[in-house]
Amino acid sequence: MGTPESQTSDNVVSIDRNELADIQVSKPSSVSGVKASLSSSSSVHELLECPVCTNAMYPPIHQCPNGHTLCSNCKLRVHNHCPTCRHELGDIRCLALEKVAESLEVPCRYQSIGCYGIFPYYGKVEHEQLCEFRPYNCPYAGSECLLTGDIPLLVAHLKNDHKVDVHDGCTFNHRYVKSNPHEVENATWMLTLFNCFGQHFCLHFEAFLLGVAPIYMAFLRFMGEEEEAKKYTYSLVVGGNGRKMIWQGVPRTIRDGHKKVRDSHDGLVIHRDMALFFSGGSREELKLRVTGRIWKDQ
Ligand SMILES: [Zn+2]
Ligand SMILES: [Zn+2]
Ligand SMILES: [Zn+2]
Ligand SMILES: [Zn+2]
Repeated sequence: MGTPESQTSDNVVSIDRNELADIQVSKPSSVSGVKASLSSSSSVHELLECPVCTNAMYPPIHQCPNGHTLCSNCKLRVHNHCPTCRHELGDIRCLALEKVAESLEVPCRYQSIGCYGIFPYYGKVEHEQLCEFRPYNCPYAGSECLLTGDIPLLVAHLKNDHKVDVHDGCTFNHRYVKSNPHEVENATWMLTLFNCFGQHFCLHFEAFLLGVAPIYMAFLRFMGEEEEAKKYTYSLVVGGNGRKMIWQGVPRTIRDGHKKVRDSHDGLVIHRDMALFFSGGSREELKLRVTGRIWKDQ
C-alpha cells in the first residue's frame, strides 16, 4: 500500500471479496486476484449464475442496493426483498454484469453429445433451441409421452415401451381394419416404424374429425432433421372397388409435432365415405389397404 493508487486498487479488491463471499462462490481461491478471476471464464460463469435459482442470468440482471445479484424470474418471486441480505430490493439493474456477459463466448449445452459450436453468451439459448443435437421428443402420438432423447434411444423406446411394429425395407403394404368406423374419435391412431436407408420413418394412420367430417389420414415422419428428411420421398396408395387415391409427399421431420403435421393436412387424407367405399361390402367395417414406398432422391 505504498502509493494512493495501489490503495485504491486494494479497496476495489476488498469490495469484490465481500461481494463474492456473499453470493457464496464456492471456491474462495478464485477471489485472490480480481484480474485473474475475470479472465477465467468459469468464475465469471459463477457470477452469472443466479444465487437463488442457480440458472444462468440474462438481462435484465437485478441487484439489491448492497450489490447482491439475482435473475429476473427470481426477482418476481421474492416480494421486493433481497434473498441474500433481506434489504428492500427496489429496481436496480446490474449493468456491469450484463456487459461482462456480453463479452463472453460459451459452448452449446449439447457439447457433450457432439455440438462444438461456441456462441456469444446471449445467443446461446437461441442456438440451443435449434441445435441439431438437442434431444427429440418421442414421436408416439397416442399418449402424452414426455420422453426425449436421440434417435437410437427413441427407436428402442418405441419398440419396447409403445410396442410399435418395426418393418425393415422401403416398401410396405398395410391393412387397417376397424370394426365400427362410425365412431371416429380424435384419439384414434396407429404408428408403424420403417427401417430403411439406415434411417427410421414413422407411418401414422389416424382417424379424426375435420370440422364435422370424419376423415382418415396417413403420413410419414422422418426420425431426424428436416435437412435430411428432404432427401426422401414417399408415396401412399389406397383403393378398392376399381378406384384408388395416390399421395406423394416428403416425410416431415419428427421435430414437427404430430399434430402440426396433421393440422397442415400434409398427407393422404381420405374422407370416411370414400374409405368405406374402398372397403367394399356393407359399410359396417373399415378395411383399408395402404401400400407405400420410400425412396431417396438422387
Ligand atoms: Zn434466479
Ligand atoms: Zn442484498
Ligand atoms: Zn448446439
Ligand atoms: Zn414415448
